[in-house]
Amino acid sequence: MIIIMSRSAQDEQVERIQQRLRELGFGVHLSQGVEKTVIGAIGDKTPELIHSIAAMEGVERVVPVLKPFKLSSRDFKSDQTQVQVGDVVFGGNQAVIIAGPCAVENQEQLLSTAKLVKAAGAHMLRGGAFKPRTSPYTFQGLKVEGLKLIQEVSRETGLPVITEVVSPHEVELVARYAQMLQIGARNMQNFPLLQEVGKAKLPVLLKRGIAATIEEWLMAAEYIIKEGNYQVVLCERGIRTFETATRNTLDLSALALVKKWSHLPVIADPSHGSGRRDLVLPLSRAALAAGADGLMIEVHPNPERALSDGPQSLTFGEFAQLTKDLAPILQAVERVL
Ligand code: PEP
Ligand code: MN
Repeated sequence: MIIIMSRSAQDEQVERIQQRLRELGFGVHLSQGVEKTVIGAIGDKTPELIHSIAAMEGVERVVPVLKPFKLSSRDFKSDQTQVQVGDVVFGGNQAVIIAGPCAVENQEQLLSTAKLVKAAGAHMLRGGAFKPRTSPYTFQGLKVEGLKLIQEVSRETGLPVITEVVSPHEVELVARYAQMLQIGARNMQNFPLLQEVGKAKLPVLLKRGIAATIEEWLMAAEYIIKEGNYQVVLCERGIRTFETATRNTLDLSALALVKKWSHLPVIADPSHGSGRRDLVLPLSRAALAAGADGLMIEVHPNPERALSDGPQSLTFGEFAQLTKDLAPILQAVERVL
């Protein structure tokens, strides 16, 4: 349930209610908006309890949240959440562009890509060091060596970096090298991993599972937020459908609906969303038009030789052109690069 405080409520009254809820065994989450203060209480409630809380001083009304996702929902927090990574802000008027290779392969590949994407307007660098591959016989990432390269290149270029973490035991390790943690599609329902990144101090990018419903996706976000980490950005990266002409189907309906249901920023990944580099530009335009707060795009100095996801990776020239070609749509949706 959510407890909406009256405008004139005193801080002590807000504190007293939180204390009472904790005594009753509720998980308590405070949201102090410009307009109103709202307390989210997660736990079992009875009609009597709702009445007794509603009668406490300073309370305007108590509203049960009917949707199974609570902390990520607009019922709990109506204002758009902004998530900050260095100087980059997701959920504001900037369309945040994260770009870089699928996997970190070597220093030269990562550094040249970082310099190019930065010059072309990207705000953050991506690159996987731990790669969850469908086949155990393909490149699995450089692991710690890759993390070191990420950190080095981030320092050299000033770009904050995001990289994937695949195991709960490695969250602390990865957090030492990156500014944002990525939970990949295959791990969207790895609950121990979600709980662990929920305890981390870093922002998290939560990619939608390959066959996850919107509700399951938001429930995964709940696992992170419930642990106290509110810095969650969602990423629509395509789902599996009957269509085989594309690697996945970028679900723009989900993107638009999640923007309504949740206050969390939502970005799109047209690279994994389609699996084809020639579709990255049209899908980037479409995602921004549908309300995306940013894009994640794979770029490689030589896609033909990439150790993973070459067919969907843009060349340097294509990426530089893409950021230019997004200008009219960005203007139309009143966002800036
Ligand atoms: C990736 O971003 O490289 C990746 C593996 O993505 P996903 O988890 O969406 O497949
Ligand atoms: Mn990839």
